[in-house]
Amino acid sequence: MPITFECHRCTACCRWPGEVRLEAEEIAKIAALKGIGEMDFIERHTRLRKDRRGLALKENADGSCIFLKNGGCAVQAAKPQQCQDFPNRWVNQLWGKLPLENIQSDYPMLFNCAAFKAFLKANGG
Ligand code: SF4
Ligand code: SF4
Repeated sequence: MPITFECHRCTACCRWPGEVRLEAEEIAKIAALKGIGEMDFIERHTRLRKDRRGLALKENADGSCIFLKNGGCAVQAAKPQQCQDFPNRWVNQLWGKLPLENIQSDYPMLFNCAAFKAFLKANGG
């Protein structure tokens, strides 16, 4: 039975430095939501990924996502899969398969997630 979380909308994951990777269909979806063309969107809102194998969303100087606005996601209706999957996908891949200390050292971001913190508390972590 997969573990599912109710997001507390604390936005910690949107403020964490790192890459929000984009697939072509995600670019099309977000550009449509913003009402701009895909090329325009790519120029204004994306950069090359560190591995140079695709595009990621640009970030602000403090590492937060450029679409984090007024305490929420400005593209919520079309947010990338990577954002939709956090933290459920990570936890389902890790919980019960790795010792908690390893999860803590290798995936520190999870421990800033309010939904995961609540789960940990309820499960004696
Ligand atoms: S796209 Fe939205 S949900 Fe994803 S990191 Fe940016 S602000 Fe957060
Ligand atoms: S860190 Fe967790 S609870 Fe906070 S917004 Fe992200 S997924 Fe939701």
